[in-house]
Amino acid sequence: MKMLSLFGATGSIGDSTLKLVDEHSDRFSVSVMTAHSNYEKLAQLALKYQPSLVVIADSQYEAALATCLRGTSIQVASGVDALCEAARMPVDCVVAGIVGFAGLMPVRAAVEAGQTIALANKETLVAAGHLIMPLAAVSGATLLPVDSEHNAIAQCLVGARDEDIDKIVLTASGGPFRALSRAEMHHATKEQALLHPNWSMGQKITIDSATMMNKGLELIEAAWLFGLGSNRLEALIHPQSIIHGLVSYCDGSWLAHMGPADMRVPLSYALGHPDRLAWQAEPLDLAQIARLDFQPVCLEQFPCFGMAKSIIGTDPADAVTLNAANEMAVHHFLSGEIPFGEIAEQVDTILSEKRLGSANSFDDILALDQEVRKSARSAV
Ligand code: NAD
Ligand code: MG
Repeated sequence: MKMLSLFGATGSIGDSTLKLVDEHSDRFSVSVMTAHSNYEKLAQLALKYQPSLVVIADSQYEAALATCLRGTSIQVASGVDALCEAARMPVDCVVAGIVGFAGLMPVRAAVEAGQTIALANKETLVAAGHLIMPLAAVSGATLLPVDSEHNAIAQCLVGARDEDIDKIVLTASGGPFRALSRAEMHHATKEQALLHPNWSMGQKITIDSATMMNKGLELIEAAWLFGLGSNRLEALIHPQSIIHGLVSYCDGSWLAHMGPADMRVPLSYALGHPDRLAWQAEPLDLAQIARLDFQPVCLEQFPCFGMAKSIIGTDPADAVTLNAANEMAVHHFLSGEIPFGEIAEQVDTILSEKRLGSANSFDDILALDQEVRKSARSAV
């Protein structure tokens, strides 16, 4: 029996994880579940999965959550410190499914505690890969990538020696605006931007997929996970989302990972690790799919991708800035304050201004993130 703690239990990664738990209730139990503010869904999940602890990040909902769980033995807590404490509770696997920068501190706590972490929250490595990776090396924490491309590449790298690797390639669907020019997508509506062709995910990552910031963030994530510079990292648009990642080796061999576009594929790899976890995956009918297409990412069409790629290997403060500016711009778009096309402009403006702080420590990163958000708010 493996014990899991599930951070972001009410989100899309949370849903996919719990579907696997349902299929393997004899192999997994959930001992911690967390959410941001949806206390009703968290309470429902807690009643079904009976964790020993639930944490709601927004403290104003703690009392309501406790009321829903009255009469049970489930402990209720709230706030960021409680999330971090929960991340240190020893389990077999911590599933890091919180979205955005908010995922950083719980992941840091889990890494410090030497846990095995199924890492979906890419923003952690974007903002703090330079601190998280050395911390994991010291604590002995294991990071199992759940982002589908990174999981694919990790699978293609099993048994590889560093010196044998030529480069790694992440694929991208191209999102809903793959065939549009920048001018054509400028005034895209929220509904259009949220209509991802291949994946069903939370709102933030879906908008990031439409701007292709997501693929830029993923290159930064890959740089930290696999220890490669930007000259050995590439992204390729592959509209069918069947191949998720590729590794090119020094001898001319390429290994590619294929699978249906379902997050249970990478999640099952991380949850089952080091074993393979069987589940009722949709079969991949290659004869039916018939063709796989590829095209380069156009930087003029998708400037967010270029901005993110350009800061790999620069001062880590740039990545904190890019990440915070992007989270704010996506928020402004989703709340109707700016058109779609201005997401890239807002991020570019903030990234081009003078640095608002440093990223030498976690405290620096938290302070810089706040400064960038303040600056982004005042710009709207
Ligand atoms: P989501 O919006 O569906 O769910 C986010 C979860 O995080 C929710 O449970 C929410 O309550 C919680 N949360 C939000 N803000 C919080 C805060 N301030 N404090 C504490 N908890 C908070 O998002 P998602 O699509 O599940 O994505 C989660 C992470 O996984 C993201 O980093 C995303 O990039 C990554 N990821 C997701 C997918 C996918 O298929 N959904 C694929 C690859 C990577
Ligand atoms: Mg991905």
